[in-house]
Formats: sequence, structure tokens, C-alpha cells
Amino acid sequence: MSRTVLVTGGNRGIGLATARAFAERGDRVAVTHRGAVVPDYLFGVRCDVTDPEAVEVAFGEVEEKLGPVEVLVANAGITDSTLITRMTEDRFTRVLDTNLTGAWRCARRAVGPMVRNRSGRLIFISSVAATYGSAGMTNYAAGKAGLIGLARSLARELGSRQVTANVVAPGYVVTDMTADLPQQYGAAYRDAIPLRRFAEPEEVASVVEWLAGPGAGYITGAVIPVDGGMGMGH
Ligand code: NDP
Repeated sequence: MSRTVLVTGGNRGIGLATARAFAERGDRVAVTHRGAVVPDYLFGVRCDVTDPEAVEVAFGEVEEKLGPVEVLVANAGITDSTLITRMTEDRFTRVLDTNLTGAWRCARRAVGPMVRNRSGRLIFISSVAATYGSAGMTNYAAGKAGLIGLARSLARELGSRQVTANVVAPGYVVTDMTADLPQQYGAAYRDAIPLRRFAEPEEVASVVEWLAGPGAGYITGAVIPVDGGMGMGH
């Protein structure tokens, strides 16, 4: 059955791979972007998730073109890393506003129609950093940990309406976000990963796509690691 899927930050990286995975199984897929060109097989809507009005407009455009959003993948995210002694409050709150509040804004807008339809899937892209911690990333890890509380609260709030809320927590994935990792750190990180390699975006996308499918209908409030074993036990 074909569904309407919205992936935030779907113009590149994990978001684009995820959008492609849904499109390949026949879903109607919209992606948010901030001015980038998106492939023809996706419906692109311009949206900065830090702007509540832009979120409202983007959902309206998707609903008009493709119908109500049945699967939301809250993927848009940024890093702005430095040690806490050097991190300004602005750098902390900017990352939280995008990664956590941005996801909450999209979820808040998505759930109304899902509740009315007694069906919906909310998937939040967190990170191994949420539970493992990451030096120099207090803003990022706090925001990503917040997504777990957000998803689990939604799982409890909306479960009786058959709306599920889950978290996917990737480890290191080969995208623009990790492209400028200095070589010596890259090697050290790889050594901490049992599978001894970084993930390809498609390896996250396939898990997200499965989580939104019928085979995962009884999963809610879960945090699914896709981290090559890096965060085991956390
Ligand atoms: P990329 O940097 O490749 O892509 C990030 C995406 O988010 C882009 O589409 C970007 O849009 C979008 N975005 C950023 N800020 C905003 C905003 N304010 N409003 C709307 N869209 C925005 O990152 P990845 O693909 O690697 O990451 C995707 C998600 O996965 C993120 O949430 C990230 O934290 C998470 N993740 C990534 C890991 C990794 O190792 N790569 C590991 C664990 C989690 P634009 O192109 O306009 O900048």
C-alpha cells in the first residue's frame, strides 16, 4: 500500500537515502530542503525546521499535493561542536532548536491527521551520541537524547490511536556531516566500532523504511541502534 511520507532534510545524506528507499517501494515521498535541488521522483518543499511558520506551510503543501502525512521521518540535523568551555549559549541553543525543537515542531504538525486517521508512524533520527555521550558535542548529544524522551512520550500519548513513535540511532555514517573528520580521529572512531567501518546512508535508510512498514507495526517507543555495535549496552 502506498503512503505519503515526509522526510525532513531529505535533499542529501541519510535523508535523501531514506526518501529514495521509500520512493523505491512505491510511496509518495516529500522532502524538505532549504533551496537545494531535489530529484524529480521526490516532491520538494522548502522548509527551515527552526521556523514554525515554514513548517506549517510545508505540511500544507505536502497535504495538498500528496495527501496527509502518514509517515514522518524527522531527520534534519546539524552539528556545531566544541568543548563546553568554548561553547557559547547561542551555539548550544541553535543546535537544540534544529535537532530537537525542529523535530518536535514537525511532529506536532503531523500528529493531528494521524490521530484522526487512527494510523501513523513517527520516526526520529537520533544518534549513538544520545546515550553514549560525545566529548565536544554537549549540544548535539543533549538534543539527540531529547529525541528519545520526545518519541517515548509520543508513544504513550498516541499509542491508543495506533500512531507509533520510534527512534533510529545511527553511529558514524558517511555523509557531509562526517566528511571533515580529521583522519586521526576517523581511525580512532573506527577502532571503537565492532564492525570496524562507518555506515553507508542506505544502511540507515533501510531500517527507517522497515520501521515504517507493516512488519514493525507493534514497535513503539523503541530506540533502534544502527551503529555497527559501537553503543552496545548504552
Ligand atoms: P547532512 O549534513 O548530510 O544533512 C543534513 C540535512 O539536514 C540536510 O538536508 C540539511 O539541509 C538539513 N538541515 C539542517 N538544518 C536544517 C534546518 N534548520 N531546517 C531544515 N533542514 C535542515 O547530515 P546527515 O545526513 O549525516 O544527517 C542526517 C541526520 O542523521 C541528522 O539528524 C544527523 O544528526 C543524524 N546522524 C548522522 C550521523 C552521521 O554520522 N552522519 C550519525 C548519527 C546521526 P541543507 O542541505 O539545506 O543544509
